Amino acid sequence: MYKYFFKFFLIFLFLLFFLTFDQNNIPKNQDIQYILPTKYIKITSQFGYRNFTGYKKHFHNGIDMANKENTKVYAIADGIVSFAKFNGAYGYTIMLNHDNNIKSMYSHLSKNFNVITGQIVKQGDLIGYIGPKNLYNDTNYYLFQGEKRNGMTTGPHLHFSIIEKGKFVNPFNFIKKDSAN
Ligand SMILES: [Zn+2]
Repeated sequence: MYKYFFKFFLIFLFLLFFLTFDQNNIPKNQDIQYILPTKYIKITSQFGYRNFTGYKKHFHNGIDMANKENTKVYAIADGIVSFAKFNGAYGYTIMLNHDNNIKSMYSHLSKNFNVITGQIVKQGDLIGYIGPKNLYNDTNYYLFQGEKRNGMTTGPHLHFSIIEKGKFVNPFNFIKKDSAN
């Protein structure tokens, strides 16, 4: 009887070791080193709920990184371009699909994209540039505060979002603020 107990105890220890070992080997998102998508002068809006232009509570699904027009925008990780066109309130927008059910979105860009839909990109590849606030001579525009705008924007900035399994998440849970800025 005691012998059997000891045998099972050994099997138990063996399984415990391997289960723990296995879990430690599942790649977690925290283990993937994402990089900042652009150099920013200032974060002008954080992820989450905020007061915004008359709405009592508006959910801001990304981070606004302000910098000058034509500032370079980079892929945060290896991926494939799933979207690269004008997108209403987001203005000129690029979306990338990455591993682990992660998507990244870059909005209010210049219309001069550096990538096309379906293109494979590597981390750090130049994908586009921060765009202008206004789109005067363009068939694409978003009417905002009576002006033809590059989406719902009040000045040149990158609106950057990360979508994990279909849900917008705080990009700074993935990217360290000072990673490459
Ligand atoms: Zn934004």
